[in-house]
Amino acid sequence: MHSRSRRIIGLVEINSKNEQQQNFESESVILNPESPLPASCTFNESDWNNLKELVDEELSSDRNLVQEELHSFNIPSVRPCNSLIIEESPEQSSSVIMDSRETTPVPSPKLNFGSPIPSTSPPRNEVQEPVPSEQLGENYVEPTPSVDSYITVSECNSPCSSIGNKRKRTFKTNPGKKRSSCPEKWIDNKRKHLLNSGQQYVSRNGNIKNKKELRPVCSSSCKMKCSEKFDTDIRKNIFNKFWELADHTRQWEFINNFTEKNNKKRITTEGPSRRQFTTKYFLPIPADNTLITRQQVCLKTFLNTFCITDQFVRTAHSKLSQEGITLTDNRGKHSNHPNVVDTAMVKSVCDHVASFQPVESHYTRKDTTKLYLDNNLNMNRMFSLYKEWDQFSTYSNPAQTLRQYRDIINANMNVGFFIPKKDICDKCHSYSNNTSPTEEQIQAHNKHLENKTIAREIKNNDKEQAIKSPDTVCATFDFQKILNCPHGDVGLFYYKRKLSIFNFTVFDLGLKEGTCYMWTECTGKRGANEVSSCLMHFVNIKVAGGAKKFLFWSDNCAGQNRNRVVYSFYMYISKRYGIDITHRFMEQGHTQNEGDSVHALIERESKRKLIYTPDQWYALVRWAKAEGRPYNVVEVTKSDLYDFKFLLDDKNWKKDNRNEIVKWNSIKEINVRKEEPNSLYFKYDLKGEYFYINTTVETRSRKKRKDQPTDLKNIYLESLAIPEAKYKDLISLCRSGAIPREYHRFYESLKYSTVAESSINDNECDE
Ligand SMILES: [Zn+2]
Ligand SMILES: [Zn+2]
Repeated sequence: MHSRSRRIIGLVEINSKNEQQQNFESESVILNPESPLPASCTFNESDWNNLKELVDEELSSDRNLVQEELHSFNIPSVRPCNSLIIEESPEQSSSVIMDSRETTPVPSPKLNFGSPIPSTSPPRNEVQEPVPSEQLGENYVEPTPSVDSYITVSECNSPCSSIGNKRKRTFKTNPGKKRSSCPEKWIDNKRKHLLNSGQQYVSRNGNIKNKKELRPVCSSSCKMKCSEKFDTDIRKNIFNKFWELADHTRQWEFINNFTEKNNKKRITTEGPSRRQFTTKYFLPIPADNTLITRQQVCLKTFLNTFCITDQFVRTAHSKLSQEGITLTDNRGKHSNHPNVVDTAMVKSVCDHVASFQPVESHYTRKDTTKLYLDNNLNMNRMFSLYKEWDQFSTYSNPAQTLRQYRDIINANMNVGFFIPKKDICDKCHSYSNNTSPTEEQIQAHNKHLENKTIAREIKNNDKEQAIKSPDTVCATFDFQKILNCPHGDVGLFYYKRKLSIFNFTVFDLGLKEGTCYMWTECTGKRGANEVSSCLMHFVNIKVAGGAKKFLFWSDNCAGQNRNRVVYSFYMYISKRYGIDITHRFMEQGHTQNEGDSVHALIERESKRKLIYTPDQWYALVRWAKAEGRPYNVVEVTKSDLYDFKFLLDDKNWKKDNRNEIVKWNSIKEINVRKEEPNSLYFKYDLKGEYFYINTTVETRSRKKRKDQPTDLKNIYLESLAIPEAKYKDLISLCRSGAIPREYHRFYESLKYSTVAESSINDNECDE
């Protein structure tokens, strides 16, 4: 069997084995061979170390460390589910990173690439056998390739680099672009070139074919006196010119030009002879003028000069048409392609991809032309969905192979699989692509990296402080990417709009305790009021436990975290409890934090699970952490959500203590002190000085009003309507049976409207 097919079968066997095992395991255990994290799905001390490593890596990263490489190499990361760019076929992901340092491997014709068990006693100098990661234990982490492995096969001139059919993994150099095919780098094509140019190569079944070498002339007894006509230098020159052609058609043409095939003139044998022709052989003689002269030689000299067999000559003759034209080399070519990519096929694939629901994201993307799909999808899964697609049969010539499907998408569409923007820093990425940065850009980048480091240091100090002193709470908070309901790897789900579930996670760094505030788009949005309401719940509980000082960290999202509504809430709550609050913002592009580990675990736990209702999501999060303190899930209802926007009224938000206009979008730190709850201290630089703004407006009438107790009101008095199109999609999922009957009432009871109240994009976030 072909080794590639064997390998594919090997993979299928492994996969089905995994599935079988999974059936015996408890539901909470997910076998995820790709994941660098332990399969036990618990977030333990070593995961924290992983996170720390990630942070350290971030700190030490320089412009050489392109984010793309992080994605490709499975570096242990707290968010393995998202950080991989999924577009590898299984054969690629199982491929081996060939070490090009090995220059003289002895090829073995019996390499068993596909077998999950390494073959016994591999020959010395053999290229390392692929060992499936399953066998290397749960903690196996794919080794990070050394510098040598970045060298592509094409850079290794040794013919041995194309042993057998081992594929070398190629890495994209630009995360924005699709990998394009490089036929000149294909192993078979390189082999063919070596063969055609007379160099040493390794055949498909691993045999070394020696390079062509000039062979000696005939013996002196030859009647044609070949050795007198052609000395070694001339013959060497002819030999070189012939193999430099590196093309069989042109070589045959050459042979045909220097041979003459005539009908047999003499009969030298008695009885019948198989020979019908006499062939004359010539070699070119260098002449002073441009005319080519040639001299006849014997067969032996002719063949030895080119290092070919008479078969080569016979083939050349057979390629000579009646008109004297040498026909082209048709090896490996055939016209029996049952499925040629045509416009109908392209249309069918493009229509299919367009029928997927793009990811609803609060992350704004700069390249809006790109279509972002659910990151549970990949080309394989999409192709299998394509074959099950209800429109599949309506196209006259649908794609038949994954390669056709993938090539059409890559050539015609700009499709990406959703990765939270958090994993990529735009600034660092564009700087790393900038080959000649100006002095200004270098300084700006250094400042960016310095800010990142400073933020990390201060955050670590805050954490230490929270661990040491019981009245200090240090917490990060952030929204998870939108969760969907229903959720699961069901084909129909990918084409339909789904109910959005929000998860706002507050992570207490001192206690290592995650609190997930969860609600649906029917309950609330994802704005500053929601953030403030959740934080109020968090602060209430912590104050009841004796907390007096809060140190918050978040990203720079202006719609959610970095705005005056949240600051007003801080002043409100500080006044109410007599507490100090500091809120610092991480450097843009480097806002990875401990809350992300919560989100990564939730995403991992929800893989391969079917979820039909918000309650099931809440339960999944509650049970996600198998060891240690489980996540605290707060099911947010509309009575928990308060309107803090009114606190902005009748206040001074314009000028600070220096009488300068406050640049709200440049603030890096906010500080509210219990002694002066009406003043907002802020910094434009984490290491810079504090400025403050006194928000009180000194007028008689308003002063009176300010002293009245502030009553909070709920933002939403009733549930929010979802867009009508989404409602229709959800109901169609019920009708088709994709959502089981017992959940239909929940979906049918959802309020909907043609004017969508619960717009996702009301608070867009840049991070
Ligand atoms: Zn001779
Ligand atoms: Zn950066």
